[in-house]
Parts: sequence; structure tokens; C-alpha cells
Amino acid sequence: PYAAIGVEVNVDYITAVAVDLKGEELLNWRRAFPGSTASPGEAVTAVAAIAKRVVSRMTRESRQVLGLTVAVPGLIDGDGAVHVAPNLGWHDVDLRGDLVKALRDPAYPVLVDNDANLAAVAEYRFGPHGDVSDLVYVTGEVGVGAGVVMDGRLRRGGHGYSGEIGHIEVDPSGPDCRCGRRGCLEAVAGIGAILARTAPGVSPIELEHEVDEVVRRARKDDPEILALLDSVGRGLGKGVAIAANLLNPEVVVLGGYYVPLGPWLIAPAEEEMLRRSLAPGGGGCELVVSTLAHRAAALGAAARVLDSVDSGRLPAR
Ligand code: BGC
Ligand code: ZN
Repeated sequence: PYAAIGVEVNVDYITAVAVDLKGEELLNWRRAFPGSTASPGEAVTAVAAIAKRVVSRMTRESRQVLGLTVAVPGLIDGDGAVHVAPNLGWHDVDLRGDLVKALRDPAYPVLVDNDANLAAVAEYRFGPHGDVSDLVYVTGEVGVGAGVVMDGRLRRGGHGYSGEIGHIEVDPSGPDCRCGRRGCLEAVAGIGAILARTAPGVSPIELEHEVDEVVRRARKDDPEILALLDSVGRGLGKGVAIAANLLNPEVVVLGGYYVPLGPWLIAPAEEEMLRRSLAPGGGGCELVVSTLAHRAAALGAAARVLDSVDSGRLPAR
């Protein structure tokens, strides 16, 4: 039997998933990781350590590893180098090359891809969307990114940099963004925008806990939190409206931390999207939360290995 491995390294966590040839999950694992303060070298060491552990576990289970894809929150070029990952503070990091070295020239191929693109692939492939062929996945981390599936295919654009919805300006007088601009969607409606108000200066490894805290307060109808989530939801709706006007997706799926916050974000976001969409009813665009939660990008990363096998680009040795 075979196994394909996906690892996601993000601003505040590392997630790993292994799947079999059918895409059934064999293992999933998650740990807090200070991605926003770690150097690229430290991230490579951490990802390689996890990948090695997953590989040896697969080997113990007599599975042959077909490949590893690593998901990263940034622009990835065709060679698996990170051009820029704003919230990791990385510029021009040869991540694929560094990982291959850290893994000591592994027998299996190593790929690097954008987190939101991979999450969209997972959502399209494993999510509950029936015969939907046009889907946009919007991931809500500290950064906000999109993966665009049109006519049943991930649309990467000319150089693989499509889907950077998080850096579309939605409020000219809004907060500064880690990309160096201001008023970007992620500065207005990313998780950092929420936590800047509820837990200023929070360390990346506490982020998940602080989001739980926001959910807990929202459940208790804390008026301050409800107002904050309403305004973040509206900001998010501006971004969703751009996607709806530009692409007319059948569904926009909200992922990452937008999943636990969905009950408070969806209604204001949808209202804003409907208000800003030229097509009636947002062009029939449905706004939902992902059922794959935080596994989406890692699962999509593993699925990307399978796709490469299917397309004959990797040998299914
Ligand atoms: C990055 C995207 C990424 C998103 C979500 C943004 O800041 O520019 O590439 O997909 O964050 O992590
Ligand atoms: Zn930006």
C-alpha cells in the first residue's frame, strides 16, 4: 500500500496529514508553532522533523511514501520557492531546495504550494459540494487567501499567484497590512484583526486558544465581541463580493478560523456580499463554512501528491 503526505506550516501551527491512494486519511496531527517569529531555517527543521516522523510511521505500516507536499501561506513559484509570505516575514526562500537538503535527498518527491490553493483542492475533492464545479475557498488565518476552482479545475493564474484576495484593499483608511500596504482584506478581516482587539500582542502559539476565547464570549452574547464579529463579517463580505462579481462562484467556502467563527460571520458577510453584487442574489453564490476545518490545506497537500501520480508526473512505484 501507498501513502501521500501533506504538511502545512502557517503563522501559528503545523499540521500533517497522510492519506492512502483513495484519499482516506491515515493520520492527522497538529501542533502550535511560532511561524511568525521562526526563521525560515527553523521552519524547515520543524517541517522536516515532522515529515520524517510521518514517513517512518508509514514505513512501519509497510506503506510506500509517494511524495510530500508542504503548504505555505504565501506566493510560491514554479520551483517551490517562496517568493513572499507576508505573515511569516519570508522573502525569496528556496523552501523546496532547503527541505530536500534537510530530508537528505529523500527517495520521494517534495513539492511546495500555497495553503489556500491546496485547501480549495481538498474542499473540492473531499467536501460536501456534490456537482458544484465553481468554488472559491477563502481561508481565515492571520492571513486571508483564496483558492479558485473554476470548471472543476484549480486556477493558478499565469505564474501561480492567483487568489491573493487577502491583499485586495477594502478600506483605504484601514489598518496596516504585513504586506506593506494598508486596508487589505486580511488587515480588516483576518484573525489578527480580531485578536488585535481582544488579545493585543498575543503570541502565535496562543492564537488558537484566543480564538476559542472569542467563540466562548460570542456564545455568551458578549456585546463587544458581537459588534466586533459583525464588523469583521462585513469586511469579509466586501472581499467575498469581489470574488462573486469577478468569478460568479456557486459557493464560497470559508475555512481556517472562519469555521469556528462562522456562526457570527456568515450573516453580516452575506448581507454585505448581496448588497455589493451586481447579479441578483449574489449570482446564486452560497456562503458556507468548510467541513474540513484546519485539516484542509494539509489534506489538499497530500491530495496534490495523488494528483501528480494520477497525471503520470510521479511514478506510482
Ligand atoms: C498570503 C496568502 C495566503 C493567506 C492565508 C496571505 O497573507 O498572502 O498567500 O494564502 O495569507 O494564509
Ligand atoms: Zn496586504
